[in-house]
Order: sequence, then structure tokens, then C-alpha cells
Amino acid sequence: MIVVYSPKYHINIGPHVFPTEKYRRVHARLLETGVIQPSDVVEPEPASWDDLARVHTLEYLATMRDGTMLSEDLAQLELPWSRDMVDGFRLMTGGTITAAGLATSPKSQIPNPVVCHIGGGLHHAFPNHGEGFCPFNDVAVAARVLQARGLERIAIVDLDVHHGNGTAFIFESDPRVFTFSIHQQHNYPIWKPRGSLDIGLADGTDDATYLCELERGLSAVVAHTPQCVFYLAGADPYEDDQLGGLRLTAAGLRQRDRLVIAAVRGAAVPLVITLAGGYARHVEDTVAIHAATIEEALRTEGGRRM
Ligand SMILES: [Zn+2]
Repeated sequence: MIVVYSPKYHINIGPHVFPTEKYRRVHARLLETGVIQPSDVVEPEPASWDDLARVHTLEYLATMRDGTMLSEDLAQLELPWSRDMVDGFRLMTGGTITAAGLATSPKSQIPNPVVCHIGGGLHHAFPNHGEGFCPFNDVAVAARVLQARGLERIAIVDLDVHHGNGTAFIFESDPRVFTFSIHQQHNYPIWKPRGSLDIGLADGTDDATYLCELERGLSAVVAHTPQCVFYLAGADPYEDDQLGGLRLTAAGLRQRDRLVIAAVRGAAVPLVITLAGGYARHVEDTVAIHAATIEEALRTEGGRRM
């Protein structure tokens, strides 16, 4: 089991609904419960500005680097600018690149491994602007890095409660990348660029309906015959999330994770898991849901230490 993580993901963004402490707490919980050992953890390097430019415009990257964003840009990003904020999210983007590289490495001892990133899933970032707490689109950048290395066919399974608008926009005209999103239809973002498969659910959707729709979508993902799958395992479809309006239980979310992992492993495809959103009223619920995702990933790697 490889887990990519850095303590620097605990970025100081002041009082905020986005609990950046969750990364530190998920990592600590996985160590405490013996799901991972310190030797399983790989620390990433920051994404290079050149890699970021595979997705983002040079103009946008310059404003992020130099702190010259306009106040309306910052309002859309919904994060305060600071050097630490930029460095933290650049490192997190590097984490997803690292996880993708490890998952698809020809030197990997396990065929088609699952690599978990305790971070990432910043799916609202567009080429020319950030929004919704997402300065850089880490999964899109990592997908472009894999394509540059010759792995062209990629699938992105986005199960955050919010539609992956930035990701859908970025790959709208790239048929090699299959973007699949299940989200709450009447929620942010208002404008949802079309992905390859979008399933917008009604407010209050429960476990059974959700899992049924997911199975349908996973068949389409496998039919795309990807060479790598990225999974955004958002914790915000949870029934007690402050920014979500679906009614999934913690058990339902665990079943969701099992279905995704089983489908991708069944198709013998490397899998990269990122955490994405999670804003439960009690942060420990978000931490428990994310930790459960990684437990499920480990269970399928042969049940080591479980
Ligand atoms: Zn979300």
C-alpha cells in the first residue's frame, strides 16, 4: 500500500468551512489504527510550474505566483491569497502527480495497484481561474502528465457531491479522457460544463438510489478501456454535510468506495484515489469517511495488516 501525503497540506486559510486540518487527521487516524505504517507514506514534491501549465494559462499562473489576483478572482476562489496557500496547493497537485506516477509505474511490484493520496481532488479549477477552494486542478494536471508519458486513455470518476465543472471543461474536447460525475443537481456550481457522463441527483437522494446510479456509470467507465482511473472520493455526499444536500450514510459511502475499487480492479486498471471535498458538521465524520475509503483500498490490495 502506498499513501502519498505531506503535513504541509494543513494550510492556514483562516476561519473557513474547508477544514484543511482533515488531511493531517486522516493521516494520523490511519497510523493509529494500523491501516498504514510510516514506511507506506511517500512525501511529494511540488508540481512544477511547467506541469501546471499543461492545464492552466500562463497569465493565471503568474497571478497566483505573484499574488496579483484581482479581488473578484479571489472571491471566486473563496480562499485568501498567501505564499503558503499557493505553495500548499502546488505541493498537493504534486501529490496527485506522484500518486499517478506510482500507480502506473512499470516498476510497480503489484500489478495495477491502488495508490491513495491523502489530498487532492481540486475539481473546480479551470485553466484560467480557480474557484470553490480549488486553485489548481490536480487531477487534470496529473492526467496530462500521464498523457505526456504515453498513457493516453484516462477515466475520472468524480463522486464529490458537487459537479466537477473545471475537470469537465478541461477535457470537453479530449475523447481520450472519460469524465464521469455523480453530483447533486441543484447545488454549486450553477454552470455545469458537460462531462462524458453526468448524473445529477435530486436533493435528499439516499444510499440505494445513489449506488444503483453508480453501478450504471461504472460500466461506462470500464467500457472506455482506460489505462488509469482517478477517483475523487468526496466525503460531502454525506447526510450531515454542510455544503451537500444528499443523504448518504457512512455505510453507504463505504459501499460506494467498494463498488468503485472493485470495478476498477476487476478491469485490471491502476487506480489513483484523491479525497476531494468534505464539510461535515463534525469534522471527525469527514475524517472517518476519508479514512474508510483508504481502508477499503487497502483491503483490496490483499488484506495486508487488516
Ligand atoms: Zn464538493
